[in-house]
Amino acid sequence: MTQILSSTFRRAVSSSSRRHATAIQRNIKHGNLRFITILPESPWLTSSSDAPVYSNLIGGQFVASTSSKLIDVTDPATNNLIAQVPQATLSELESAVSSAQTAFESWRNVPIQQRQRFMLRYQDLIRKYTDDIANLITLEQGKTLTDAKGDIFRGLEVVESACFLGPSLMGETLGNLSDGLDCVSYRQPLGVCAGIAPFNFPAMIPLWMFPVACTAGNTFVMKPSEKTPGACMMLAQLAHEAGLPDGVLNVVHGGKETVDFICDAPDIRTISFVGSNVAGEYIHARGTGNDKRVQANLGAKNHAVILADAPEGAAKALAGAAFGAAGQRCMALSAVVFVGEARNMLPEIIAEAQKYKVGCGFDEGVDVGPLISKESQERVESIIAQSIDQGAVLELDGRGVAVSGYESGNFVGPTVLSNIDRKNIAYTEEIFGPVLVCLEADTLDEAIELVNANPYGNGTGIFTQSGACARKFVHEIDVGQVGVNVPIPVPLPFFSFTGSRGSIRGDVHFCESAVLFLLVHLFLIFRCHF
Ligand code: NAD
Repeated sequence: MTQILSSTFRRAVSSSSRRHATAIQRNIKHGNLRFITILPESPWLTSSSDAPVYSNLIGGQFVASTSSKLIDVTDPATNNLIAQVPQATLSELESAVSSAQTAFESWRNVPIQQRQRFMLRYQDLIRKYTDDIANLITLEQGKTLTDAKGDIFRGLEVVESACFLGPSLMGETLGNLSDGLDCVSYRQPLGVCAGIAPFNFPAMIPLWMFPVACTAGNTFVMKPSEKTPGACMMLAQLAHEAGLPDGVLNVVHGGKETVDFICDAPDIRTISFVGSNVAGEYIHARGTGNDKRVQANLGAKNHAVILADAPEGAAKALAGAAFGAAGQRCMALSAVVFVGEARNMLPEIIAEAQKYKVGCGFDEGVDVGPLISKESQERVESIIAQSIDQGAVLELDGRGVAVSGYESGNFVGPTVLSNIDRKNIAYTEEIFGPVLVCLEADTLDEAIELVNANPYGNGTGIFTQSGACARKFVHEIDVGQVGVNVPIPVPLPFFSFTGSRGSIRGDVHFCESAVLFLLVHLFLIFRCHF
């Protein structure tokens, strides 16, 4: 692993701007890139003339794809080519499912204590190699190293909770249904499960998916985002280092062709999806149309409702939730609703936003990294322009932000738009960039009505010191995750990550309740005597 992973970075360094190279080299010097040495060489990249190509993981082997269709993975801070992802061929996809199906026959019979012990070793390895995974996330996704470590840590918590999955797999019993008759139910694994991940959390979201499924006794076919596949490959390698038998976890690459295969493959029983509404609604319809269980977490427009008695620090918290990770978080607070006099907080929010430093995620002191692609940058800038045309007031403009040494990067700085009405494009679209739109309401009732009328229902927060207002909000709001003076209310894995309305398809949530999604109930009735 050492050699080939190093060569990826060497290529990235050599093809990046000088300053970017210096940033990466500084990280190497600081020991952040102490490459993983658990295997003699990195098997998941194959050399090619243009850039290293990611391999699929099939049946425990990292296999170079024979596909001629390659998708570029670029560094968002420079737009230089880092690596390429193959569009896996049909026979590669079929092999992945067949190896998962074969592995299931024995894996399902491995005692739960042993499957949990695998997770115990796995969490230890993820912890040990967090810096390495974080560096790859920052290179491919652009977020700061601190955010990249947070990305891994949130996934690590799911792995930790899977270390004690046994109680969730317990069935139920009822004695004496009638004389000599008892009833027992077992929770049994389903078979081959699949996961399809987005670009924005390259470690956390794959870790939401396969660790719980595999510990429950299922086997898995994972498709990482074609834009940020590296972290998932490292995590897959660590899973094998932790002792996961061959074929239990498979990774296949590609875009829509791979997704369509997953939706249609008869042996795949479930699909876990996280990503946009366009893809998620399509996958939910196609997957359930093929009789699969599908859980899908989709897009968001998260509102912060600010009351006039908001506690000190609310503006700072709001800015962090709106602009952190360049707004590329499904839980980013992208719309603020000022209730009455709370509108006076706007200058404070703008002042907080102006403190954010935009730049390369590897550089110290940077708060906001680049957007994932040039198309994404252009889309965000275009929405800002259209929003102004539709009547928005531009309070802070992050377009055209200059980042010295990274002139080709996809940067947009914190942007604030006020005088937004419900039909303004900056409100109706999920922007997925560092743009905060400001709306106003006269009363808390009006604010709640506004939030509940939005098509999305992923996360929201209220900022107030009034217990009565907070309680009313919590009880009347129709949104999955709700914070009271907490800007990004992300639940721990032994709760569930939920959602409402347009932010979710399917009726089973990720993390804790996903266990039920991944199992079948087998009911037995025993007669002891006649
Ligand atoms: P995306 O939908 O473009 O891609 C997600 C996955 O779907 C990728 O693996 C991609 O290959 C595949 N895909 C993309 N377009 C497809 C299509 N037309 N048909 C079939 N498959 C397709 O999402 P993204 O841009 O990678 O991620 C950002 C989105 O994810 C945002 O909308 C964000 O809100 C959402 N997200 C939601 C949550 C949540 O928990 N609700 C968490 C993270 C991200």
